[in-house]
Amino acid sequence: MTANAKKRVPKCHGCGKPFERRVAAPRVEKMKYDGARHEVLIEGMPQWQCDGCKITLTDDESDTVVQDCLRRHIGLLTADEIREARMALVVAGIFQGMKS
Ligand SMILES: [Zn+2]
Repeated sequence: MTANAKKRVPKCHGCGKPFERRVAAPRVEKMKYDGARHEVLIEGMPQWQCDGCKITLTDDESDTVVQDCLRRHIGLLTADEIREARMALVVAGIFQGMKS
């Protein structure tokens, strides 16, 4: 991990104090993907937060994590489908074995 690009800390538009960098609490967000609605678990998303005003601000890094969560969500769906297909094959294999 490289830290050559030092981030400028944005200031809260409520009280003028610099935001704190925090990881947002996990939450489920409804997102559209490929014409279908998905309830995607967003976790580990960094964001700026003012502890005093409870104002939060997301940036490009937050968006990247959200996109990653969406991709993972879609990927998990696909993996489940693969697992089901494999299970069907295994079951078929067992039945074949019992016949002989
Ligand atoms: Zn504030």
